[in-house]
Amino acid sequence: MPSRGMLRFMDASAAFEDSRFVIFGVPFDRTTTFRSGTRFAPTTVREASWNFEPMMFEHGVDIQDIPLHDAGDLIEEGAVDTMVEEVEEEARRIVSAGKFPICIGGEHSITPPIVKAFGEISAITIDAHLDYKDTYQGLKNSHGCAHKRIEDAVGKGNVFSFGVRSMAEEEVGAGALYADAFRVHQEGCQKVFREMLQKLKRRPIYLSLDIDGIDPAYAPGTGTPEPFGLTPFDVRLIINEIGDRLVGFDVVEVCPPYDNGNTSVLAARMIKEVVAVKWKALQKG
Ligand code: MN
Ligand code: MN
Repeated sequence: MPSRGMLRFMDASAAFEDSRFVIFGVPFDRTTTFRSGTRFAPTTVREASWNFEPMMFEHGVDIQDIPLHDAGDLIEEGAVDTMVEEVEEEARRIVSAGKFPICIGGEHSITPPIVKAFGEISAITIDAHLDYKDTYQGLKNSHGCAHKRIEDAVGKGNVFSFGVRSMAEEEVGAGALYADAFRVHQEGCQKVFREMLQKLKRRPIYLSLDIDGIDPAYAPGTGTPEPFGLTPFDVRLIINEIGDRLVGFDVVEVCPPYDNGNTSVLAARMIKEVVAVKWKALQKG
């Protein structure tokens, strides 16, 4: 019989039971407002991941030595509220087994249900947008409400957004914690990030990367591109700053129909960075 298999993230060949990291995709983009297509990203990001050498010399880590499981995609044809419930269920399955969830979106509305699967944590989003609307187009679970819904889950003061350069009038001065991209550029990423980190309680951290937080020059394939963004080096620095405290990660809003291929490659590379950095921290104990 010919062998069959699904497309996995690079070297994610461990069984669920034996794994330390579990990747899953949520190909969902129904609340997307401008350009849709993020539903294709779990596939393109997995494809792009095979571009890389498993060896990461700069960390002294070989991805092939890390127990990584790919659980495939959640298939949800229904409304956003159903999707959110199913994502929370999947995240609970992973977190309650003591594993590190890595989700490939989909749009940003997939993040709050993952955050809910944890106990007391803090959360950080990297995002061009503040995502602090209470409802958007009648939806509580719109991707434009992601920061607000995360705040509902972890409590005020336990989440901030980094690299923000777009917000609606109702979001200005509404009380969200954030660092804007202009300040990051002016004062330096490490300085501003460390200041922001001081504001959070000393808890484990969930990191959500909305790919539009990175400048469209590096990440053109996204639904709502916004100039004056972070660089890939900034995001890499952030991952390395908090690696030992990380408990989960997602990358969202990659939109392959508008990509030249590089955005999916960048998303895959950031997953690889998180896995390597966290693995290194675990080895140190
Ligand atoms: Mn967002
Ligand atoms: Mn965004």
